[in-house]
Amino acid sequence: MIKILFWVVLLAVVAFVLGFKRGRPPERPSPRRDAPPAPPAPSAVSDLEPMVSCAECGTHLPASEALPGRGGVFCSAEHRSAHEARLGAPRADRS
Ligand SMILES: [Zn+2]
Repeated sequence: MIKILFWVVLLAVVAFVLGFKRGRPPERPSPRRDAPPAPPAPSAVSDLEPMVSCAECGTHLPASEALPGRGGVFCSAEHRSAHEARLGAPRADRS
């Protein structure tokens, strides 16, 4: 009698666990419900210009618009001169 009770309880527990797993909604949407967003074409990626950040204010700007200077690139001549002024007096011993 104890064995029968043991198996009944065991089957009930297994059925409960399996039913719990199947009853849960899927955490991620089905992949075939909607078409996944297409990755950007390689040509579109290559058209993107690399972005750099201003060393003074951190503003991101296209690399072609950045002004190179001492200590990095800058969004404007004003920030470049301000950053270079903070770095110290420009070196006069350039050869
Ligand atoms: Zn700036």
